[in-house]
Amino acid sequence: MDKIIVLIGAPGAGKGTQARLLNERRGILQISTGDLFRAMKSADTPLAREVQAVMAAGNLVSDELTFKIVQDRTSMPDAAGTYILDGYPRTQVQAGQLEGLAEEQEKEIVAVEIDVPREDLLKRLTGRRTCPICGEIYNIYSKPPKVEGRCDEHPDAVLEHRKDDQEDTVAARLATYDELTAPLLDYYRKTDRLKAVDGTGDLEAIYSRIERAIS
Ligand code: AMP
Repeated sequence: MDKIIVLIGAPGAGKGTQARLLNERRGILQISTGDLFRAMKSADTPLAREVQAVMAAGNLVSDELTFKIVQDRTSMPDAAGTYILDGYPRTQVQAGQLEGLAEEQEKEIVAVEIDVPREDLLKRLTGRRTCPICGEIYNIYSKPPKVEGRCDEHPDAVLEHRKDDQEDTVAARLATYDELTAPLLDYYRKTDRLKAVDGTGDLEAIYSRIERAIS
């Protein structure tokens, strides 16, 4: 049976980085709701502006809109097999919506917790830089680009510091995670679908742990 691999972890736990590696190396489609919302930035519509404001404050976009975006994206032909959800679900309501979607798509949900201590998260978030062209994620402390401030693959592009990675927004995002998303760990644990992975240490070591957890 094809799977829906749900990556759960606090902001900065490395969901995006690891999902990109799984995509590159195993060809598993990565669907990141955060990336989908960020892509709306270029659209100058009232809805896009509203989403940007919600994100900038470190809050969650409504369950209704988020589900619509996930439904649309996962019904595209390239999502016919196993795919990774990076950053979804983030609330109990979303987890319920995903159960219905998985049933419709005849897929099995496997949740992977990437567990990282709080003090590491702060460093990761404030050090994170992203290429605006390919989305590659760097970190000025742990994964610097070859040339400071430039993407290795797109040297013309200046790496971006996400607005919601600034310190005050980070605190709000962590609080939102604790309140709304962390309870999902229990939900998946109780239904015997949770694999917990140590998210500290070397990128490659974390990747191997995740690969083992999902195979
Ligand atoms: P991320 O890149 O996963 O940290 O997401 C960035 C922002 O996008 C979050 O802080 C939320 O504002 C929004 N977002 C991403 N995924 C979701 C979701 N599943 N539900 C609600 N809002 C989301």
